[in-house]
Amino acid sequence: MRALFLVFLFLAAPALAEQPQNIADLRSEIIGYIDSGSYSADQMQAVQPGITWLEWRAAQSIPGEKLALVLDIDETSLSNMAAQRANGFSYFRTGACDHLPNGPCAWDAWVALGQATAVAPTLEFFNAARASGIDVFFITGRGESMHEATVTNLEAVGYADWAGITTKPEGLKVESAADYKAPARLAIEESGYTIVLNVGDQPSDLAGGYAERTILLPNPMYRIP
Ligand SMILES: [Mg+2]
Repeated sequence: MRALFLVFLFLAAPALAEQPQNIADLRSEIIGYIDSGSYSADQMQAVQPGITWLEWRAAQSIPGEKLALVLDIDETSLSNMAAQRANGFSYFRTGACDHLPNGPCAWDAWVALGQATAVAPTLEFFNAARASGIDVFFITGRGESMHEATVTNLEAVGYADWAGITTKPEGLKVESAADYKAPARLAIEESGYTIVLNVGDQPSDLAGGYAERTILLPNPMYRIP
């Protein structure tokens, strides 16, 4: 009788909700994607059509036309992999970053260190643009207070001879990064440039127009609305 009752309880139990993916499994999957070389191979594959486009577009330009390439910074031009891995792909704004490679490593302190590395395919891309006479502008969600450390970091890893960088005004609140980045591209166009290509690792880097073409690089680690 007791066994029958237990069977009844088992059958009457509500079904479990559909389970989200286990975050530790997901983390292992992401590390595998990075360590296998697939992440950098995918970045390279994404960038290649852009190089072809830039070279073709520069060859078609009319006299006096000023062409621009716009690049996002984090996980587009600079890789924050050391901090990302140390934090298990979580984000902490404030605190120290003095326990690398194991972490924790807070974002503001990490940026101040200026130890981000170049995203190699993007640096190649950058150099191809410069060789074609295309000016390069960075538009980043990094705040104005990070401007100097960011410029130092960019130059240290090989981004030389670029035309401008837009950092986000402190205290500016936007629903989407696109609400800040699209007007920043408009400002570049209003200064006399035609943006022939805009490259980012988030859809919000690319939304809102003001570029002839866009390229989305892979980012398995985080999402910025
Ligand atoms: Mg980014």
